[in-house]
Amino acid sequence: MKVHLVYPAPLWREHGLSGWSVNAEGPLLSTVDDSPGFAPAGGAAGTRADGPAGVLTGFVTGAEAHRFAALDPAEQRAAAVAQAARLFPMLPEPVGFHVTDWVNDLYSKGCYAALFGPGDWLRLGPRLTAPHGRVHWAGTETSTAFFGLLEGAVRSGHRVVAEILDRPA
Ligand SMILES: Cc1cc2nc3c(=O)[nH]c(=O)nc-3n(C[C@H](O)[C@H](O)[C@H](O)COP(=O)(O)OP(=O)(O)OC[C@H]3O[C@@H](n4cnc5c(N)ncnc54)[C@H](O)[C@@H]3O)c2cc1C
Repeated sequence: MKVHLVYPAPLWREHGLSGWSVNAEGPLLSTVDDSPGFAPAGGAAGTRADGPAGVLTGFVTGAEAHRFAALDPAEQRAAAVAQAARLFPMLPEPVGFHVTDWVNDLYSKGCYAALFGPGDWLRLGPRLTAPHGRVHWAGTETSTAFFGLLEGAVRSGHRVVAEILDRPA
């Protein structure tokens, strides 16, 4: 499940904080700065192309997700806001609060990628990416970077296009 806490601005940055956290206790097992226009390493951090909103995204995963999904909306908000306030005490009450429940989404049933076990990539990776005759395999699970993410899917598409263009006529 994903939780978006919306603030007037990414206020944590004013305190030298990134908004990132990894937590042993939930519901927010990790948080990231998802503010519009946020540019990570190398970019112009702090620029906000779409207006001055600060969005803290929290990831609620595993057993925590099932516990969180069972709460009513007011309980979900209270639990998430309380944890955000423990992590970043400078934060006021959020002006917006959104929850996406992928666990109970009819067509997703969870989030968000297939993960290999230790050693599987080395063993299976070459077979996942090798063309089978005229059939070429793209998809995020074939990507050596950003595996499991949209960026990995796009990169795998580029790889396959290059393979096809390089094929002898
Ligand atoms: C709930 C959820 C949340 C996510 N959140 C994020 C996020 O915040 N950020 C991020 O970067 N990534 C996120 N991801 C991961 C990201 O969505 C995937 O990594 C990405 O969409 C994978 O792209 P893909 O092209 O490899 O595969 P897909 O997008 O799965 O595309 C595969 C396509 O093949 C089609 N297909 C399957 N079988 C057949 C068949 N036999 N014949 C024809 N077509 C077929 C499917 O219908 C599908 O359209 C999330 C994923 C989920 C499920």
